[in-house]
Amino acid sequence: MARNLTEAEIREVVSQVLNQVSAAAPTASFDSTQYAGKKFVGVFDDMNDAIAAAQVAYKAVRAMSVEKREQLITEIRRLTRAEAHIMAEIGVKETGMGRVDHKTAKHMLVADKTPGTEDIVSAAKTGDNGLTLVEMAPFGVVGAITPSTNPSETVICNSIGMIAAGNGVVFNPHPNAIATSNYAVDLVNRASKAMGGPEILVCSMKKPTLESAAIMQSHPLIRLLVCTGGPGVVKAVLSSGKKAIGAGAGNPPVIVDDTADIAKAGKDIIDGCTFDNNLPCIAEKEVFAFRNIADELISIMLKNGAYMIDSAQAAKLADIVLVDKTDKKGNVRKIVNRDCVGRDAKVILSKLGITVSDDIRCIICETDFNHPFVQEELMMPILPIVRVNDIDEAIDLAVKAEHGNRHTAHMHSKNVDNLSRFAREVETTIFVKNAPSYAGIGFGGEGHATFTIAGPTGEGITSARSFTRQRRCVMAESFRII
Ligand code: NAD
Repeated sequence: MARNLTEAEIREVVSQVLNQVSAAAPTASFDSTQYAGKKFVGVFDDMNDAIAAAQVAYKAVRAMSVEKREQLITEIRRLTRAEAHIMAEIGVKETGMGRVDHKTAKHMLVADKTPGTEDIVSAAKTGDNGLTLVEMAPFGVVGAITPSTNPSETVICNSIGMIAAGNGVVFNPHPNAIATSNYAVDLVNRASKAMGGPEILVCSMKKPTLESAAIMQSHPLIRLLVCTGGPGVVKAVLSSGKKAIGAGAGNPPVIVDDTADIAKAGKDIIDGCTFDNNLPCIAEKEVFAFRNIADELISIMLKNGAYMIDSAQAAKLADIVLVDKTDKKGNVRKIVNRDCVGRDAKVILSKLGITVSDDIRCIICETDFNHPFVQEELMMPILPIVRVNDIDEAIDLAVKAEHGNRHTAHMHSKNVDNLSRFAREVETTIFVKNAPSYAGIGFGGEGHATFTIAGPTGEGITSARSFTRQRRCVMAESFRII
């Protein structure tokens, strides 16, 4: 087994990687096949070559015992813990988004709580007609498209689950997070080599593009597509004609009613909303607060790192964080300003000419329901608060703000009827009660972790078993022992 890096070695790698990343402008021109003079393993110039290598890896994984697969996964977990800080630093530097401490914690979560081979469970049915065995088989080579918001976290989480299930994997990572994603691909391959597995266990692209994604989507060796990203890319893979798992956009609402522990709710919401500067798709995006507790809730938020802006400032900020985009048909629509996504609250406030201390981690404002801060998935630490009269209005508006994504919703309440009603009506994949959003992916909440939450296609909180296909073997009239 490979040894742990020393503190000094970690510092050296971080500084060498960061020097390389900062030398590259724009970041997409960063040489994603190497860092610190060392070549990344498993990174290809051509998608067809990457798929061919992934097919070789798939055959090797198929021939491997489950015990051996688990050994590779154990080493992937160990290296992920050891190099979490490095990947967090590269991620923030390359994408300009998120926070190093939170990204480090996200990698630890992936290492600790992503299920491995134990997630693959067979079933047997016996009866008068004998025995039927149902086993969960791999698909073959999986084509995985990964986002910029949790780049290396998604690569490692997907790799663990897909390898545990016996598949090969080829990634087409987000073009704005190539170095971070390919560092994670290299990490998985280093873990494999260290444990006597294939030198190339998972594959990726040096310069992933929409064209390389299109090759992946139509290649005959790709048997399953797994897409983690916004609505455009999920739609693209679902239209591919192949079996696809789509983990798409969210816009999670939070309801706070007048039975909630308001001190806890205010702190939990700010903690969840500001985690990795609001990049996680599950993070709180808009609050619907009962009118009679809204002032108290806001005062708690202000004591927990929130900064309140007024409606004129919110209007000005909306023009900064949302920009016009003209599509191919000439239609103009608002999209989020990528220069603001995942940025610190302090940096966003400075664009309004407001200077605050480092303690400020969230921008809050009171808005009406139609405000773009409520309607758009901003992925930045800006939290609009809408006052509501009662639970009927709260649920009605929260369900509308979720836009039918059926992704994630949150509620702070001690009223079981209210909690149950909202959960039923919003129909989200994740529903978190009385906790920060990240409890929904295993941080301070029960259950395993994932960074691929497949609402549209129904796999939910994906894990190894999501990347399998069912096979049945029937032995008629025999093999029953009773
Ligand atoms: P994005 O949609 O910009 O890109 C995701 C990936 O898709 C990238 O690799 C991109 O290059 C590729 N892509 C985009 N359009 C494509 C197309 N037409 N064909 C093929 N590939 C295409 O995502 P992002 O900005 O990095 O991530 C943010 C979005 O992803 C948010 O909407 C967020 O909610 C969502 N997200 C969802 C989950 C989940 O688990 N459900 C997890 C993370 C992010």
